[in-house]
Amino acid sequence: MQVELPDGSTLELPEGATGADAARAIGEGLARAALAVRQDGQVRDLAAPLEDGAPLEIITARSPDALELIRHDAAHVLATAVTELYPGTKVSIGPPIEDGFYYDFEFPEDVTVGEADLPRIEEAMRSHIHADERFERTDIPAGDALKRFVEEDQPYKVELIEDLVRDQGVDTVSLYRNGPFTDLCRGPHGPATKRIKAFKLTSVAGAYWRGDSNRQMLTRIYGTAFLSQEDLDSHLERLEQARARDHRRLGRELGLFMFSDLSPGSPFWQPAGMTIWNDLTDLWRAENLRRGYREVKTPILYDVELWKQSGHWEKYRENMYFTDVEERAMGLKPMNCPAHIQIYREERRSYRDLPIRYSEAGLVHRHEPSGVLHGLLRVRHITQDDAHIFCTGEQVEDEVIDCLDFGFFLYEIFGFDPRLELSTRPDVRIGSDEMWDAAESALESALRRKGLEYELNEGDGAFYGPKIDLHMTDSIGRSWQLGTVQLDYSMPERFGLEYTGADNAEHRPVMIHRALLGSFERFIGILVEHYAGEFPLWLAPVQAMVLPIADRHVEYARRVRDELAASGIRVEVDERTESVGRKIRDGEVRKIPYMLVLGDREQEAGRVSVRRHREGDVGDRDLAELARSLAAEIAEKRAPAVPDNPL
Ligand SMILES: [Zn+2]
Ligand SMILES: [Zn+2]
Repeated sequence: MQVELPDGSTLELPEGATGADAARAIGEGLARAALAVRQDGQVRDLAAPLEDGAPLEIITARSPDALELIRHDAAHVLATAVTELYPGTKVSIGPPIEDGFYYDFEFPEDVTVGEADLPRIEEAMRSHIHADERFERTDIPAGDALKRFVEEDQPYKVELIEDLVRDQGVDTVSLYRNGPFTDLCRGPHGPATKRIKAFKLTSVAGAYWRGDSNRQMLTRIYGTAFLSQEDLDSHLERLEQARARDHRRLGRELGLFMFSDLSPGSPFWQPAGMTIWNDLTDLWRAENLRRGYREVKTPILYDVELWKQSGHWEKYRENMYFTDVEERAMGLKPMNCPAHIQIYREERRSYRDLPIRYSEAGLVHRHEPSGVLHGLLRVRHITQDDAHIFCTGEQVEDEVIDCLDFGFFLYEIFGFDPRLELSTRPDVRIGSDEMWDAAESALESALRRKGLEYELNEGDGAFYGPKIDLHMTDSIGRSWQLGTVQLDYSMPERFGLEYTGADNAEHRPVMIHRALLGSFERFIGILVEHYAGEFPLWLAPVQAMVLPIADRHVEYARRVRDELAASGIRVEVDERTESVGRKIRDGEVRKIPYMLVLGDREQEAGRVSVRRHREGDVGDRDLAELARSLAAEIAEKRAPAVPDNPL
């Protein structure tokens, strides 16, 4: 038999040769480095017979598939260690995931496993890795596998096999054995356990079997694995950074927002958080006004007839909340568009009125399963910085450019570097090909006209039209989608929207949906993590704290506060009878940008000693001059240098 190698050469091999044979035929070094092979786009075990004539790629540590392979290996080693340490444990599934792997277990009733037990499990895993146990695959009749797992009292495996047989008509299944542990598994796997060069168990969580809250709650152990200790260390460092920036913890510590089981997925804004919210809203409102938007406000509860007409009933019902009001079925809005359409429709529109741009800090509700709720980043109660533009086909390109420009303007204020993605027609879509041609080329030429670079996501558009998404990378390298600009030819059709053209005939407007911050909730969550809670001065809930050294300075401290407050600065006096050192420490913890220390000397000279957060003492200033410079820093919305290490 023969296979073609990536460099174009062909390799002759004996009949029935495996990936391992091919690697050895190329060189001993490669044989040692090989983890698996890829043929016909599929990753396969080194021990599997090769397919005659198909191109062959040998997967080594350098290949992008390698991490997924060894993480899956590590999941099996985790189950090996756990079943050895806790006899009677029932195993379910253990896949590789984006940043590592997990395995879900049902422990015997008298056993609870928590994070304190992870080092012990890691120790057992290490000895199995050190023993370099081979992953051996056997393909056996489903009936035999079923019998085996029934005998071993592994009900989750039994259920998986029964489903495979029933739903997919499977008659053979594959088992993988490494050392003492055998798992039902599709594979592929690396050759042996020692290829896992570095791993760590990271956390323990509850997870329902098959994600179904009516079924058994299992214990999920998360871990991660890498091909070198260096890679693992830098990953753990990033995790540590992310933990230090966790907006849920900072939100609690800084008194920004809270959550209650009484309203899951819906933040309660505390006074300090509301200050930030209001500053963002002020910015949003002023800029919308400046850019020709008119603000509207629409209800949140609607007759379901509206949702049937908009298509949400058909496509989005699962994510909506419904209720009966005086025997009328009503639904909470998951999007603002149909509401803005009602306002558009209220009057006859002429081409002279267009474009019409409505903006709304629109409150929508979308159902998210409780398991995926995550602080402010994944909520059910969402306040979008939404807008809908109704325009003619010829106006689309200019409007799109204005939306992008607006987005860039906003992101720059926060020090974000945006990245653009253009998503084009999906397989399942409405509208004619001519409509899609026009819409896609309008977006493309808008991007080209501005000389903007973008990534193309073919087939990723909404079912009603193509879109441009705006992403940014935060201070520790994580990517977030913020804004979106979407063209929509369908909603105007569904609602029969019209305008009278210059030709006196009725025409259909195009609708542009756009949000730039995304939602206020999520955006603030991202800001907290991006700044590690150290907000730029204009957003800081308390911008300056006055610290009198002794009681006899309180009078002067209050005068300083009043003078700064008169310049529009959010300022407080720390009047506690604590030492000034203690007051400074507390102010640092609260990440207050400016601390103003006052003693005899300052009082006599009418000055203040200024401490800038993170910089420390920056000298003393004349009070009036300080008020002017802080007010200027606030007015400029100066973006701070983002702290790269909050630890
Ligand atoms: Zn597996
Ligand atoms: Zn919309």
